Amino acid sequence: MSVWEDVVGQERVVAAFRAAAEAARVVVAARGGGDSGAGEAIVAGEAGAVDASAMTHAWLVTGPPGSGRSVAARAFAAALQCTGEVPGCGVCKACRDVLSGSHPDVVRMATEKLLITMDEVKTLIGEAQRRPWTGNWRVILVEDADRMAERTTNVLLKSIEEPPPQTVWILCTPSADDVLPTIRSRCRLVTLRVPPADAVAELLVRRDGAEPELAARAARASQSHIGLARHLATDPGAWERRRRLLLAPISLRSVGDAVLAAADLVDAAEAEAAQATTERDAVEKAALLRALGLEEGGRVPPSLRAQVRQLEEDQKRRARRARTDVLDRAMIDLLSFYRDVLVVQLGSDVEQVNIDLSDAVTQVAASTGPRQSLARIAAIEECRERLRSNAAPLLAVESLMVQLRPQA
Ligand SMILES: [Zn+2]
Repeated sequence: MSVWEDVVGQERVVAAFRAAAEAARVVVAARGGGDSGAGEAIVAGEAGAVDASAMTHAWLVTGPPGSGRSVAARAFAAALQCTGEVPGCGVCKACRDVLSGSHPDVVRMATEKLLITMDEVKTLIGEAQRRPWTGNWRVILVEDADRMAERTTNVLLKSIEEPPPQTVWILCTPSADDVLPTIRSRCRLVTLRVPPADAVAELLVRRDGAEPELAARAARASQSHIGLARHLATDPGAWERRRRLLLAPISLRSVGDAVLAAADLVDAAEAEAAQATTERDAVEKAALLRALGLEEGGRVPPSLRAQVRQLEEDQKRRARRARTDVLDRAMIDLLSFYRDVLVVQLGSDVEQVNIDLSDAVTQVAASTGPRQSLARIAAIEECRERLRSNAAPLLAVESLMVQLRPQA
């Protein structure tokens, strides 16, 4: 049992965080004062002793989507607060509190909005200035640091540059290029790799109780994206939706078909996103109305309308974000299909992702050439880019479907 258990296939990252957490204890001991700098002595002394430079105040945790960035960051936060014998024991109260999100000295910011607001960042900076309540460190964990406008990031910069001695910032982004160079240069970079499929499968079995054969299939089909793999291993409808998605382009006969298929895909994404957000939206709205002393369904006096509108705007943004995520997942699946087609066309012995659709892969591979597959892969990448930059989803997907249509 340890906090590192769910950080799968990331041995180097775990080693770096462990060393940092060990070093952090030395720093705390030295800081403790009065005990004649015992900590410093350990650092300077014997060979094999803890290297205090393994710890620092600002971390940038990067890794491709689904590689487990936030899980790794949380495990590190737990190890910093841990009171067990070995940092990150996973059984002490501090470890358990951090992992369950209830530790008072680990402030976590995860957003479903497209952008983190200036107010939210100012709140975080305020949190970073406080002394720890119960723990050794005040840990500020920003899970989507890439969702910050430049102006907002600049406000954050100073706090990251000169944090109070007991504060640790942990920022997570898909890649180091997703934050401003000024932020990047002040953080120590820790990079997660795409975890091996068997490590992901093993996690699904252990953590989510998935059946081993299904877990292996899900890990492979999702290309080791942990969240997607879990989705495939635990939602019985997910395979069928994926299958329909991947086979749809093959049966398109005309531009009209392509337009309809695009509408289907966007509608399905909207429905899935709505399912994920509607219930929570209602709960939030009821809570806000209660807090304002209003009746549900009643008239909102003009003086309070701005607050209600703010919440509705936030919820709309969140729904858009959820839809973008669902569509992005669809794009990743489509990419895997045409990559498989290309693998067959080139006679490569690279493992295929979509073994369950091998008939369709073979058929498309036989009826087209590698040049066409590359063009399709490029078209999917382009569509993905457009969706991410907030283009109208229907237009982007329509244009993609037209390009994926079999040539007459
Ligand atoms: Zn512990």
